[in-house]
Amino acid sequence: MQAKNLKNRIPERIGSWQNGRWVTPAAGAQDLPVINPASEAVICLLAEDDSASVDSAVAIAKATFQSGIWSRAAVSERKGVLLKIRDLVVEQAEELAQLEILSTGIPISQARRRHLPRAAMNFEFFAEFISQTADRLYDQNPDYLTLVRHEPVGVAGLIAPWNAPLALATMKLAGAIAFGNSCVLKPSEMTPLPFVRLMEILKIAGVPDGVVNLVNGRGPVTGQALVANADVDIIAFTGGTATGRAIGELAGRGLKRVVTELGGKSANIVCADADIERAVESAVLAGFGNNGQQCLAGTRLLLQRSIAAEFLDLFLTRVRSLRIGLPSDATTEIGPLISSAQLERIQSFGNDARNDGVEILAGGKPADLKPGYFFEPTVVHAQSNSQRVCCEEIFGPFVTVLEFDDFDEALSIANDSEYGLVAYVWTNNLGQAMKAADELRTGVVWINTPVYRELRAPFGGFKHSGVGRDGGDWSRSLFTESKTISIPRQDFPLAQLADSK
Ligand code: NAD
Repeated sequence: MQAKNLKNRIPERIGSWQNGRWVTPAAGAQDLPVINPASEAVICLLAEDDSASVDSAVAIAKATFQSGIWSRAAVSERKGVLLKIRDLVVEQAEELAQLEILSTGIPISQARRRHLPRAAMNFEFFAEFISQTADRLYDQNPDYLTLVRHEPVGVAGLIAPWNAPLALATMKLAGAIAFGNSCVLKPSEMTPLPFVRLMEILKIAGVPDGVVNLVNGRGPVTGQALVANADVDIIAFTGGTATGRAIGELAGRGLKRVVTELGGKSANIVCADADIERAVESAVLAGFGNNGQQCLAGTRLLLQRSIAAEFLDLFLTRVRSLRIGLPSDATTEIGPLISSAQLERIQSFGNDARNDGVEILAGGKPADLKPGYFFEPTVVHAQSNSQRVCCEEIFGPFVTVLEFDDFDEALSIANDSEYGLVAYVWTNNLGQAMKAADELRTGVVWINTPVYRELRAPFGGFKHSGVGRDGGDWSRSLFTESKTISIPRQDFPLAQLADSK
């Protein structure tokens, strides 16, 4: 799609989508600029939804849920609509990818190869899942049949981050509606663009009006209003750990069901017996994919001392040759960071590292590319896991190297973190691999592979990386209420309140 045509597809001012149509923002609604991080130019304005507007979207979602038009629709009908959404996402993948990269800075090749296929797969997966899963029957007690059914919960508030807007928001959206819920989606205020197109796709695919509603705005305004609304039954949130804590507290007061998928500081352990070339290429993907702005980034690269020099030689050659450039260029490997604030934050890690005696092996400063929030792919060598670069989530193209002597030490460093999202392990020793699988305190352990997401399996974090999981059965637990129904097989003597005389 040509940039000129794409421009025609972006409204000058994005409002909210309620009951299947765009709503004119209220007079006095605050306008937020949506910025292109590669040019620093304003792409369009976003009209922020205040609590009155959020309440209206929730009321529509609730009324639609209660109408039963979707919540009681046959599974085959919901499946058909989800598959149609998948088809439309595939058909319009190029336009969606272009919209996705414009405000995120994700390189187009990654949007095409990873983000859009994942968004389409999210709808396909839940379409298939609901048509295959059965409810349970317990008949061990010969007097009774007991059924356990799963019913939609009600209204889901879905709050998404900016780093992979479509892939992550559609995982929640597809799960919520597949199980019959209505929802109100709030994307990040920095990356609303692809959702304009997505709402229209949902309508064309046959999602009844009011099932999916979209509100826009900043977290403490629009997001908080959504979490505070008493008619929202579930909050599914992906974002930072501090935000997750605030959301958990507020949602807890309303006794809402909450799943939080939060930050990470994941270890990537490379043992001396590993396939070094594969481990190097995977360390590049884990550290610098999505401009390093991914929750599952392998940001703490733990190298066994005996191969550290050889590994670093290959790794640094590759990192120094990464192509920094415009997200729209298919050969770009590293695009800009999301915002000037993020650029400043990441620069502070570079500066602190220097002052802290951490050796800068590559990068460590903004790239010579202006305009845009570009930062050089950075590798630093820390002395101790307690240094700031090893403890805090940086969320940029920034990898910290630590060395270890024996495998127990590597596992202990990996686990010495407030986070516990994922871990990568590179070894050809089966015993070591199994030990890692047993002892790493993370929600996912990838052995001899870069990121692999199996949607049937749970994804989520230990410790401060989140509460709850999504994927397959775990999404079903989140988005459904279980109901137990017991029926006697035949009439039998009823119990008495007391023994008869
Ligand atoms: P963020 O926490 O700043 O914002 C995430 C979303 O929450 C945005 O839509 C934001 O507007 C909203 N929000 C902010 N404050 C809020 C509040 N008080 N109430 C309600 N909503 C609020 O996170 P971000 O900067 O957009 O994303 C980066 C973070 O997300 C990183 O920490 C990253 O690790 C994490 N993340 C985690 C996963 C995962 O699956 N575990 C995936 C991607 C990103």
